[in-house]
Amino acid sequence: MMRSDAGNFMSVQFAALSENESFARVVVASFVSRLDPTMEELNDLKTVVSEAVTNCIIHGYDSNPEGVVSISASIENETIYMTIEDQGKGIEDLELAKQPLYTSKPELERSGMGFTIMESFMDEFEVTSEPGRGTSISMKKTIVSKKALYN
Ligand code: ATP
Ligand code: MG
Repeated sequence: MMRSDAGNFMSVQFAALSENESFARVVVASFVSRLDPTMEELNDLKTVVSEAVTNCIIHGYDSNPEGVVSISASIENETIYMTIEDQGKGIEDLELAKQPLYTSKPELERSGMGFTIMESFMDEFEVTSEPGRGTSISMKKTIVSKKALYN
């Protein structure tokens, strides 16, 4: 298979198990490493991946490990584009779900800050969801390379 653009990309799928959250963080961190991110940029990206993957597992699939979580990412120039998605239960009211402090699982001691964190740590952030079909989060972030900072 050939691609028409010259950017780099990757795609992974994994079982909806909480132990795969650290796997997902490491995959994205190592993919983005060639952009030479600062420690802060790397930590922000890892946090965002954790929040999005946790949401797929505990909300999308209600912790059913038969669920599949997908991450795809591409790098174009200094920008990483990332999509994290599930084919789980979906979100009925997106505007409500995105409100800071809103959680549908207060009994699990969730704080309702996942979407707010994703939005503030990334340059652009978009959620699409269809009840009964799943949820997809697309985000982008431009990395200010360490090389640029020290030159
Ligand atoms: P926290 O992330 O702070 O632990 P939270 O997961 O409840 O708490 P958010 O990540 O902001 O908070 O998500 C808000 C709400 O959106 C969730 O409570 C859930 O109802 C819904 N939601 C988020 N992601 C998904 C998803 N992938 N599938 C279904 N519902 C989701
Ligand atoms: Mg969350």
